[in-house]
Amino acid sequence: MDIPRIFNITESAHRIHNPFTPEKLATLGAALRLERGTRMLDLGCGSGEMLCTWARDYGIIGTGIDMSSLFIEQAQRRAVELGVTDQVKFIHDDAAGYVSDEKVGLAACVGATWIGGGVAGTIELLRRSLLPGGIILIGEPYWRQLPPTEDVAKGCGAHSISDFLILPELLSSFRRLGYDVVEMVLADQDSWDRYEAAKWLTMRRWLEANPNDDFAKEVRAELTLEPERYATYTREYLGWGVFALMPR
Ligand code: SAH
Repeated sequence: MDIPRIFNITESAHRIHNPFTPEKLATLGAALRLERGTRMLDLGCGSGEMLCTWARDYGIIGTGIDMSSLFIEQAQRRAVELGVTDQVKFIHDDAAGYVSDEKVGLAACVGATWIGGGVAGTIELLRRSLLPGGIILIGEPYWRQLPPTEDVAKGCGAHSISDFLILPELLSSFRRLGYDVVEMVLADQDSWDRYEAAKWLTMRRWLEANPNDDFAKEVRAELTLEPERYATYTREYLGWGVFALMPR
């Protein structure tokens, strides 16, 4: 079981697999006013940067689940590097339907809401692991500017304009699901660059190391076109943020 290989190639050098910088991740951790010993669950934890750094900085205890074996190995190495192996645990698995045995104070799905079949389904799934008074974290794109045409939405990697909402509508969708939005930290164009532009050097280096790989043609095509696609579409139209929610 694994994710499509292209992600394991293009994001192999990323610690954060989202348009967030380490500074924004730390800002979010501080904003949540976490108590030491808070239990956390992270579905689609990627390389575990949120769990590992928050274990180090805020004393949380947590479990991360991810379907990429590469990212889970990286998460385990990061836990060793930051000296938090007694606080965090990483599981290589499909997180769909995952509910923790012991309920948590912080239940997250940051940039992987397909795991619960969309934002509403993922919130519902996370809620099943949540302690009373706990916080749910959802990382999700929104339209910075509404795309003028469906082609522009496709240029952003969306299937259609209706895949995402504009920010006020995303916030009202949380309200309508019965949640208070109690905090948020948003990406900006510079933090988007850290996510997207970092893939280009990784792809270039990978191509140099693997010229005869079956995948080289696909990676070459992506590296050739990606910078212009990104600057034309995603960077202009797509926003992203992490939203902290508490059931009303
Ligand atoms: N939250 C992490 C990773 C976001 S990228 C971060 O912010 O860095 C999306 C992640 O979801 C990837 O790590 C991918 O491997 C993982 N993923 C995709 N489908 C999944 C599934 N069904 N179950 C668990 N993880 C999944």
